[in-house]
Amino acid sequence: MADEVVMKCIGFAAGHECPALGQYLKSYDPDGDALTGLSVWTWDVNEAIHFADAGAAFACWNQVRKSDPVRLYDGKPNKPLTAMSITVEKFLPRTMPLCIVCGKLASELEEYTQVAKEEGIEVADYVAREEGTFNSSNGHFACTDCYLFKLGSPVGGSRRRWIAP
Ligand SMILES: [Zn+2]
Repeated sequence: MADEVVMKCIGFAAGHECPALGQYLKSYDPDGDALTGLSVWTWDVNEAIHFADAGAAFACWNQVRKSDPVRLYDGKPNKPLTAMSITVEKFLPRTMPLCIVCGKLASELEEYTQVAKEEGIEVADYVAREEGTFNSSNGHFACTDCYLFKLGSPVGGSRRRWIAP
């Protein structure tokens, strides 16, 4: 438990832009549906797969797709996740609220740190009290920029406010 590690994506091995860059592996099925994607990545380290050690993480990364074990173009083993470069980090639980859209912690966002400082309270407490999208069960929220411009100001069901999943 003490030495659990998580896998972080550091980009596509081939170098082109990777949507999972900087995120943690949440699930991976090398034999899943290639159309919907075999891996799921998350900004939230608390939701990441916790591996016993780096060896276990690399063994996961190195898995061969059993239903399609050989790459046609070069005859080498087909290991889908190795399309991404990864690094392994020690798991440190996150306690600061997290914007699940941009991956920033509340402590990195001026809109929260400024006011919390002025009020003399903790940033996490300020977000829990004032941020309408805050989900108290997992510490997720959407910062103002992400809520307005990336999500398009969603509303919850029955005119209730929208809460980050
Ligand atoms: Zn954000």
